[in-house]
Amino acid sequence: MDNEEFFVNNNGLRMRRCCASCIHKDYTESVNYRTCKIHKVDVVPSEVCESYETDPKYMDEGGSLGQVRTKHFIDYLTERLLEPEVPGVKKPTPFSVEKEYTEKYGSPYVKL
Ligand code: SF4
Repeated sequence: MDNEEFFVNNNGLRMRRCCASCIHKDYTESVNYRTCKIHKVDVVPSEVCESYETDPKYMDEGGSLGQVRTKHFIDYLTERLLEPEVPGVKKPTPFSVEKEYTEKYGSPYVKL
């Protein structure tokens, strides 16, 4: 295991190559429980293996450039993520909810 490998994303943020930023990491019902889709084991966030591939969503992290999200957006996000699952309907993610919110209400960030 090599814990000292990093990459720089599209917004200039230096990020660690590890299970936490790997596309093969899989979430379960519990936020704190993650597994590897390839190796079928629990992942250790700071570790990395030869099958690592950067999850594309981490390439755009930091795009808000330090802006603060509005309370209206945080409430909307929380409500959407806590909605019960509907069979056949894709479960929303923070990224899909932000896109949905932006289309409905505009920017989710506080205007300074
Ligand atoms: S492929 Fe390797 S680096 Fe990626 S989640 Fe699985 S164990 Fe971690």
